[in-house]
Amino acid sequence: MILDKTIAQWCQSHPLIAELINLQETTWFNPALAASADALADVPVSAADIEDASARLKRFAPYIRSVFPETREHQGIIESLLVPLPTLQAALTTGHDVPSGGALWLKADNQLPISGSIKARGGIYEVLKHAEDLALAAGLLKPGDDYAKLDSQQARDFFSQYSVAVGSTGNLGLSIGIMSARLGFQATVHMSADARQWKKDELRARGVTVMEYESDYSVAVEQGRKQSEADPRCHFVDDENSVNLFLGYAVAAERLQQQLTAAGVRVDEEHPLFVYLPCGVGGGPGGVAFGLKHLFGDAVHCIFAEPTHSPCMLLGVYTGLHDAVSVYDFGIDNLTAADGLAVGRPSGFVGRSMQRLIDGYYTVDDDELYRLLALLESTEGIRLEPSAVAGVPGMIRVLTERQGYRERLQLSERRLANATHLIWGTGGSMVPREEMNAYLEKGRALLAER
Ligand SMILES: *Cc1c(COP(=O)(O)O)cnc(C)c1O
Repeated sequence: MILDKTIAQWCQSHPLIAELINLQETTWFNPALAASADALADVPVSAADIEDASARLKRFAPYIRSVFPETREHQGIIESLLVPLPTLQAALTTGHDVPSGGALWLKADNQLPISGSIKARGGIYEVLKHAEDLALAAGLLKPGDDYAKLDSQQARDFFSQYSVAVGSTGNLGLSIGIMSARLGFQATVHMSADARQWKKDELRARGVTVMEYESDYSVAVEQGRKQSEADPRCHFVDDENSVNLFLGYAVAAERLQQQLTAAGVRVDEEHPLFVYLPCGVGGGPGGVAFGLKHLFGDAVHCIFAEPTHSPCMLLGVYTGLHDAVSVYDFGIDNLTAADGLAVGRPSGFVGRSMQRLIDGYYTVDDDELYRLLALLESTEGIRLEPSAVAGVPGMIRVLTERQGYRERLQLSERRLANATHLIWGTGGSMVPREEMNAYLEKGRALLAER
């Protein structure tokens, strides 16, 4: 029984659940989508909060520039490129009867400095916010200071009295661990069984304590939370509920807006922007989508992508149960090669506050993720990790849908011909070469079978 109903009763009231249980690739366009002017009020943070986060990242830029030389080129601002994907677009649309026009792009967060994934946005932001709060309260920093002074033995000694902890499938742990350790904090990452060995090695090499658990992500988070609660000097980064993580991700939107403008890409009612975001617990895609909705309103269409084995956000929003349900309740195993997305229970905060702002949700089979990973490499020479390619099929899902979504939103052929489709490439550059080669080989073999 799941909240007073049997699985059979759930399948009857919510027919897509049967497809999810059968691990079929599924697409669901959200009937509750509302005008952003109304629905943004559902979110307990505002545009002013995003601006505050953006300003904080600017204050820290001189420090980031000082301690991470790879950020010098961009003056300590952690940002990724916007890359056109014409060859991939041609390969994806071949053989599909889809409206012509529109352009496919990649937001290359796989190349983000410091931790090589989208977590370099939210994760690093949350650590910096915490460090600033402590340093201001202790008088180590004063408003108006050059934050480069935090790159000092005095500051590291100060932060070493405090600790930061997080539960993670891998990439969040990398971001939080690397940033915390660099500031001088004692850092602990509680990792689930599916976390890759190289991520644990990387963290330990930087002085981070890695605790390993036999179970999945939720248990690692729970353990981390418990141990941290016992210690008042420990800050626990709560991936499921953190508003600061969310705001760190949301800052991506203003940066993207500048890049689109610089590239001559228009976004308005006649030039819709579709953004395809891989979703794990939901904070990353939710935060980015929140920022985008503030800037582009109803002209932007955000769509979340999950593995068929871990469709937690789709399940939570579709049933309205949010974090009261996990994929395990429906017998779905949460075992996927997309380790950044291997999450069984979604963030209730993101699911609830964003439920009228997200256009749709879809799932992708693991084999398809490998194929798309290899296809992206052969067409564009770009290497993403399996989680990060979940956004690749989004454009075709939208252009071939038959649920009345495009009609309902008046996404006519004329508008679609002017559309921009943006794949959020959430990670990959930290993956060791041999591991990436193994992914590519697997993907090429699967492509050859077809
Ligand atoms: C964490 C992660 C995501 C999803 O972010 P959530 O906040 O968990 O939804 C997507 N892709 C990669 C590579 C990630 O590491």
